[in-house]
Amino acid sequence: MAEIIRGNTGDWEMVIGLEVHAQAITESKLFSGAATAFGAAPNTQVSLVDAAMPGMLPVLNMKSVEQAVRTGLGLNSKINLYSVFERKNYFYPDLPQGYQISQYLHPIVGEGEIEIDLPNGEVKKVGITRLHLEQDAGKSIHDQHPTKSYVDLNRSGNTLMEIVSEPDLRDGIEVGAYLTKLRMILRYLGTCDGNMDEGSMRADVNISVRKVGETEYGTRCEIKNVNSIKAAQAAIDYESRRQIELLEDGGSVDQETRLWDPAQNVTRSMRSKEDAHDYRYFPDPDLLPLELEQGYVDDIKKTLPELPDEKKHRFMDSYGLGAYDASVLISSRSRADYFETVANDRDAKLAANWVINELLGILNKDGKTIEESPITSENLGKLVGLIEDNTISGRIAKDVFAEMYESGADPEKIVEEKGLKQVTDTGAIEAIIDKVIADNQDKVEQYKSGKDKLFGFFVGQVMKESQGKANPQMVNELLKKKLS
Ligand code: ADP
Ligand code: MG
Repeated sequence: MAEIIRGNTGDWEMVIGLEVHAQAITESKLFSGAATAFGAAPNTQVSLVDAAMPGMLPVLNMKSVEQAVRTGLGLNSKINLYSVFERKNYFYPDLPQGYQISQYLHPIVGEGEIEIDLPNGEVKKVGITRLHLEQDAGKSIHDQHPTKSYVDLNRSGNTLMEIVSEPDLRDGIEVGAYLTKLRMILRYLGTCDGNMDEGSMRADVNISVRKVGETEYGTRCEIKNVNSIKAAQAAIDYESRRQIELLEDGGSVDQETRLWDPAQNVTRSMRSKEDAHDYRYFPDPDLLPLELEQGYVDDIKKTLPELPDEKKHRFMDSYGLGAYDASVLISSRSRADYFETVANDRDAKLAANWVINELLGILNKDGKTIEESPITSENLGKLVGLIEDNTISGRIAKDVFAEMYESGADPEKIVEEKGLKQVTDTGAIEAIIDKVIADNQDKVEQYKSGKDKLFGFFVGQVMKESQGKANPQMVNELLKKKLS
């Protein structure tokens, strides 16, 4: 259930649509041969095209086209074989052309749909309106000189894929789930690294409010400068309440672009929102319409990896995992691969339990990703195998795991060297039981006269005496016999 906000005049809901700018992974820029690597010294990756020298002509980078098509396919969206680059006339101080080459009436990718997974286990479908290609702008730097601004054009001309969603999202939780799933899909596809903190994935949040039950949408504001999921959620919280207050006071919402200020936790008006006609879009005369062949699209389709939702469903069907466990395990390709190595021909639920509860638990605590795990997937698989074939108990396995995490050692070696093998020899266990019974005659009497609870005490003593190595199931059975 989406969040409902109780106002003074009734219940309100939010309507949210996102425009996500994802920087495509390419070696060179959308229309020039300059490099795109992040973090280079300022203005070292600027060609004459990017600097907009007179007479320079843009040449379309086919890698950018391929990444856009790949992404469109991954978003279950229609690929448009005919698309057009247009000039969007707007003065960006860090884009020297004086206009941005973008797509407008004919984007390369049309309508589609993705599934998002909500924390309560619900799955919701969110419509994709389109994906179009456009140039990124550079960066203005205002804090290095008291009276001057600097500009770094390295990013100017990079390939952006703008992914526009339908206004299908209803609260911050859904927005978080949408951004998480989108980033996951982009990373699986290898079309964008999804690093929001480096700015390679940025979201503009469009939000309006309406009374619950209303079918028309209200007037929206667009919030820029949202560079994390947390920031998006905080901005939505603030902005929805601001709009409701305005409306309940008898005012109206102005369609405008607002800026999220993370220091004050507020949105501020930046400029009134332009309509499309203000941009004077027209087809860029330097670029021909882009015409693709169906065969080209089909060839790209053949190279797509198994995508997050497919993988999730396969993990549920073939490993018998629940939706939640499956969704945790597929959240990155490397995590999913890790799990599959651990589960290989072993008890999959036991494997999932060790990966999620033990390994991810401690990695999270240490702020490490699965790639940085000191325990290899092969070794964790061996540990699960040792539990499954009763070589060690689950209790001992936790100690072995702790040691593996410290040293990266092979669990079979640890078990061998420390003599941790589970005792499954009936005679040996019986000998321990006899000793425990002899040492605790008073408790035996009490047990026999009806104090059933003492059974746990005897199990504990036998396990302790065996240094945790006795097979618990056998201890239970043999104790029952001996005490009856
Ligand atoms: P523009 O280029 O003017 O920003 P776009 O069509 O690119 O317009 O993006 C509009 C975005 O705003 C889409 O994500 C859409 O889902 C969302 N949107 C449209 N109308 C509303 C509304 N009334 N409330 C909230 N979001 C809206
Ligand atoms: Mg927009």
